[in-house]
Amino acid sequence: MPTPSVTDRINRLKKEKNAVILAHYYTRPEVQDLADYVGDSLGLSQEAGKTDAEIIVFCGVHFMAETAAIISPRKKVLIPVQHAGCSLAESVNGYELKQWKEEHPEGIVVSYVNTTAEVKAYTDICCTSANALRVVESLPPNSRILFVPDKNLGAWIRKRTGREMELWAGDCCVHQRITAEMILEKAAEYPEADILIHPEANCSADDRIHSLPQAYFYSTAGMIAHAKKSPKKQFVIATEMDTLHQLQKDSPAKEFIPVGDRIICGQMKKITPENLLEALEKEQYKVTVPAEIREKARLPIQRMLEL
Ligand code: SF4
Repeated sequence: MPTPSVTDRINRLKKEKNAVILAHYYTRPEVQDLADYVGDSLGLSQEAGKTDAEIIVFCGVHFMAETAAIISPRKKVLIPVQHAGCSLAESVNGYELKQWKEEHPEGIVVSYVNTTAEVKAYTDICCTSANALRVVESLPPNSRILFVPDKNLGAWIRKRTGREMELWAGDCCVHQRITAEMILEKAAEYPEADILIHPEANCSADDRIHSLPQAYFYSTAGMIAHAKKSPKKQFVIATEMDTLHQLQKDSPAKEFIPVGDRIICGQMKKITPENLLEALEKEQYKVTVPAEIREKARLPIQRMLEL
């Protein structure tokens, strides 16, 4: 009898253990193909909140699995690799925010969901790139706002909403590589293409890019929705390269051109079908958040999900 493949073993264990696999768009294509749900930060948080499964295997970086553990404290949340970090999440810590709040007791902290549970515990409201404008526009006018940790996303929100915000100096080392020059070069090379840009990109507040009529700013899920409904045939994609896997799957007759060839998140690629299988077999590595932090961190996520 042939040995069951990794895929067969994963599917069998998923059923036996009542597990669900959630994967981010930036994971390897072969991991995305094994998932029950593929999404961006907002979609994955929502999915973690509504699943009936007893085990969530989270294919993404550690802070994302932590978010799932905060939203679904009674579920067993597993991440296939122990050290999948994120330059952005690591650029701010709870102690620094606590100090800011002590200095500005009237201030409002808006945190991008790409932060640790500890940072969320000192946050008033979370946001993702999909709902950031709505979240900031929902705050009382003239509030003192600190936006953490992504300075590029913060600058884009400031430009779009006209709201004054103090910006933390963090960035995503992957989207930071996407420059205005790269976008302008692709715009000249592919004049018929729409250019879909993630607001974490280094150039997301650049006037030269905002004046391009074919440039659109979207979360990853927003890019996929735009490409599906647009009559255009060609799209330049300015975000992590493996997003192209889902774009191509959803719109097979269209052409997707990556903005550059080094826009890759190495941390997301640590997860493979083999360590995903091992995670299911051994029920490792369990992601937990201490109850005291979890309770505080849940509120800003809930406020965001309720908007
Ligand atoms: S792409 Fe950037 S924000 Fe996303 S996990 Fe990688 S380093 Fe973090």
